[in-house]
Amino acid sequence: MARNLARIRESIADSARQAGRDASDIELVAVSKTVPLEGILAAIDAGQTLFGENRVQEALLKLEALGAPAAGQAAAFHLIGHLQSNKARHGSAFAMVESVDSVKLARALSRRSHDSLAILLEVNVAGEASKDGFQPDELEPALREIRALPNLNVQGLMTVAPLAVDPEEVRPHFRRLRELRDAFGLDALSMGMTNDYEIAIAEGATLVRIGRAIFGER
Ligand SMILES: *Cc1c(COP(=O)(O)O)cnc(C)c1O
Repeated sequence: MARNLARIRESIADSARQAGRDASDIELVAVSKTVPLEGILAAIDAGQTLFGENRVQEALLKLEALGAPAAGQAAAFHLIGHLQSNKARHGSAFAMVESVDSVKLARALSRRSHDSLAILLEVNVAGEASKDGFQPDELEPALREIRALPNLNVQGLMTVAPLAVDPEEVRPHFRRLRELRDAFGLDALSMGMTNDYEIAIAEGATLVRIGRAIFGER
């Protein structure tokens, strides 16, 4: 696993170099969903401190087991999966909620968070019927309302690209997300997973969410 991590970090640096970008502008979110605590601890030992989880309950159990940062653990978690509005009180457990997919959820997070909770808006760039996220044309009014809410810090956009046999097929979707990010004057761009992170980096990703290439097949 430490070897996987080193290989991925190197590959991220290569992709950044090829794109004329600074590798330090790209953060690796190690997606640890379904990975037992020992796997996360091994990754921490290998120097990885940022993790992504898609289920709140699973993430809370892991956070509790790892102990508070004050106890010496430097690990931080991003929520990358759907969060029900009625569970918004758990948002503050995360360093960032990447998967804000409705104004309703943003309002609930705003009510429930005490200080500035970092969030991304999830965009369904390909307009897939099965996927959560804002449609691109819903973003402007949603952002206007969400940016006005207290206790939230809207940092950027996130997307989960469609499954594709050829990763090149996802490039236009990544490009579209970057254009939206630029149009709204945001910073963060979370896109790219095991199959397509190289392309996401070429298209401007600032956060890549990688699970299987680090922890193995789920
Ligand atoms: C599982 C997951 C990932 C990581 O996918 P891999 O193919 O394991 O790299 C990234 N983003 C989200 C939202 C996920 O649910």
